[in-house]
Amino acid sequence: LRQAVALARTGRRLFLAEFAGGILFLWIVLRLGWASRFRNGAERVSRRKILQAVIFCPALLLTLDIANLPFRLWAHTVLVGYGLSIEGWVPWLVDWAKAEGVSLIITTFIGWLIISLIRRHPRRWWLTAWAVTVPLLILGVYAEPLIVEPLFYEFRPLADGHPALAAQVRKTAARAGVVIPAERIFEMLASKKLTEVNAYVSGIGGSKRVVFWDTTLLQMGESEALSIFGHELGHYALHHIWKGLALAAAGMALGFPLLAWVFNFTLRRWGDGWRIRGPGDWPALAVLLLLVSLAQVALLPVGNAISRHFEHQADVYGLEVIHGVVPDAPQAAARTFQSLGEINLEEPEPSAVTVFFFYTHPPIADRLGFALQYNPWASHVEPEFIK
Ligand SMILES: [Zn+2]
Repeated sequence: LRQAVALARTGRRLFLAEFAGGILFLWIVLRLGWASRFRNGAERVSRRKILQAVIFCPALLLTLDIANLPFRLWAHTVLVGYGLSIEGWVPWLVDWAKAEGVSLIITTFIGWLIISLIRRHPRRWWLTAWAVTVPLLILGVYAEPLIVEPLFYEFRPLADGHPALAAQVRKTAARAGVVIPAERIFEMLASKKLTEVNAYVSGIGGSKRVVFWDTTLLQMGESEALSIFGHELGHYALHHIWKGLALAAAGMALGFPLLAWVFNFTLRRWGDGWRIRGPGDWPALAVLLLLVSLAQVALLPVGNAISRHFEHQADVYGLEVIHGVVPDAPQAAARTFQSLGEINLEEPEPSAVTVFFFYTHPPIADRLGFALQYNPWASHVEPEFIK
């Protein structure tokens, strides 16, 4: 418990320090004219916009991410110190470089796209930007489990290593009336790098899947694994990824015009001092990045509140789906939360302020308490999801 509380405090400090450091460094990059120097360099090499993007965007991003590296090193040191990660420094650095490569490719494309849209539609670029961002976001969620996740972890069908559990999993899904093909249930070989336990749902359409970390299967019994699966099946069956995407699209429809307005205001007010020629100039992307970072943190409590709602729904769904399948289901679910909290060193009872700002899930003690008291069957109330 002491470790969990200390880790949570360090995590919050790390988050705040990293955020403040990121904003400060972006401001320095603008103030010292580095962003405009990257643009000068890019324009000297080529007159073609796409080649300028290929030089400007990686130069800006690598500068920012190298400045951010000490925070990442600090974070890894903390995880290793608490025994949650066992990844050595060399593989860790290789993973960082891979993530950096993926991020450079994506951000270069997005940077080029945004500057092209601003130049073509100087007044209404935010509208076209929204219209292309939404399908790109959907494409990203589709491609992530197919392209990005395998860069960092090995996956195999759950049935390969755990045929008995895979059969139970299928039976549980069938009880909820959900058809989930065996090839969409995976085991992720996390134990080479991590000791934490976890499971998740990712992808949409043809890439949609449920993934168990192998650490979870190594440390938990079948009842606990099924109780975790019940929760993930909730996300899967209630289409939480699609709903999240729809909410993000709606949020961006409201936010983009406001962002464009603040962007123009910022450039009028400080653009000359930062040697930015106008909204369609490459270094203006650093301004946009600064504003988006500020907006992301300001909106964090909103996103987290929505996420906590989905997570609670998945908990309810999970309890309903294992009812009658797993012996003494409420106790099994409670044991799962207890193990999850102990192994992952989760702070059981964080303050309301901490939950409001940082928590994507309800606190583990609340989830455990809910699992023990949720019993619509005893009082003949209709269950919420599985009738
Ligand atoms: Zn969840």
